[in-house]
Amino acid sequence: MDIPAPIRNILLRLHRAGYAAYAVGGCIRDALLGLEPHDWDVCTAAAPGEVEAVFSDCRCLETGLRHGTVTVLWEGRGVEITTFRTDGAYRDGRHPESVRFTASLEEDLARRDFTCNAMAWDGVGGIVDPFGGRDDLRRGLLRCVGEPERRFREDALRLLRALRFAARYGFTVEPATGAALHREAALLGRVSAERCFSELKGILCAPHAGDVLREYGDVLWPILPELSPEGGTSAEEWEVTCRTLDAAPAEEVLRLALLLRGRQAGEILRRLRCDRATLRAAEELAALCLLPPPDTPAAQRRELSQLGEEQSLRLARLRLALAEGHGQGAGAARKALELQAAALREGGCLTLRELAVDGSDLLALGVRPGAELGALLRGLLDAVLDGDAPNEREALLALARDRLGNGA
Ligand code: ATP
Ligand code: MG
Repeated sequence: MDIPAPIRNILLRLHRAGYAAYAVGGCIRDALLGLEPHDWDVCTAAAPGEVEAVFSDCRCLETGLRHGTVTVLWEGRGVEITTFRTDGAYRDGRHPESVRFTASLEEDLARRDFTCNAMAWDGVGGIVDPFGGRDDLRRGLLRCVGEPERRFREDALRLLRALRFAARYGFTVEPATGAALHREAALLGRVSAERCFSELKGILCAPHAGDVLREYGDVLWPILPELSPEGGTSAEEWEVTCRTLDAAPAEEVLRLALLLRGRQAGEILRRLRCDRATLRAAEELAALCLLPPPDTPAAQRRELSQLGEEQSLRLARLRLALAEGHGQGAGAARKALELQAAALREGGCLTLRELAVDGSDLLALGVRPGAELGALLRGLLDAVLDGDAPNEREALLALARDRLGNGA
């Protein structure tokens, strides 16, 4: 296992100034798993002011100062350096009343959520691992540090973090931790919708989401009652969701649509404070994925035209994943994917912008601007999409004249 040079240099500088300092948390977990950590967090015995003094030649951001975190801009990146701390009593099931700085690394590790997240390394000696995180990693176990009930009651967000880590790494949840997840699920009601939603997306897009939700789907019920049996989700339907999740492309919009298909997806996502773009796209897919796939080139071109390429691609993949999850309809879904690929390969006209005539052409024919003009243009596009007219100026003008004549 190795620490990147910039982090090693930060640790060295703190050590030379006389302070204990370690890389800690998720980076040690990921490095032990042979994965590339996406950020390296540092913890130290130095108080925040002392950290700033040690790095007085660097820019320091005091973003998390209240919790002991100083961000040091170091060799082109921001590194979070956090003073060893213990968390005081928890006020609201989310935030500690107070934090207390400590000189003890073990105390700092004890406040962390899971054993695999509670290891530290100073880059020189052995890994500090008072809770058996390394053994748990080796066995693929996710286990709370300390008593699971108490840890979840302190901070209910940990319920969702547990599912996210289990789903990301394919870990088994250790039995006592798992029992507490089921028992304490109602605590999630206290967590803000934003935090829940961001963890939910993390869970859904992880490689083992289906396996984890098959066992711990009930943990989501306090924030997504629609997925519970009382909310109208049958066991069979839920099994299809779980079976399909891991096979579907790991894209937020797509997996949200899969989870919420056939529900009031827009309303649910609004409640979860989802951003507008994701909400719109997921809502559309959640409704359309239940309809049969287009089975002719014309129907597929119409779909591409209506949804745009990105959404249409998502829809086709989602339909295939669902058909495979259901164990029926995969043939039709695959055929739709082929039709779609063919339509995109042909590169024919799919939008008003690509149509060989435009609004000014129709105005010249005497069409009134506004709704009439719009409807006629869309009618011409439909004729092209359906293969009833070529996308050629003269042919479309003739068709327009014809339709105007008929309408008069
Ligand atoms: P990721 O790879 O998702 O960033 P991470 O383990 O780095 O995973 P962070 O949220 O970045 O997770 O937190 C860094 C570390 O802080 C964790 O590894 C854990 O030790 C500790 N931690 C974070 N959130 C909590 C929490 N809610 N309760 C207890 N410890 C936490
Ligand atoms: Mg992290």
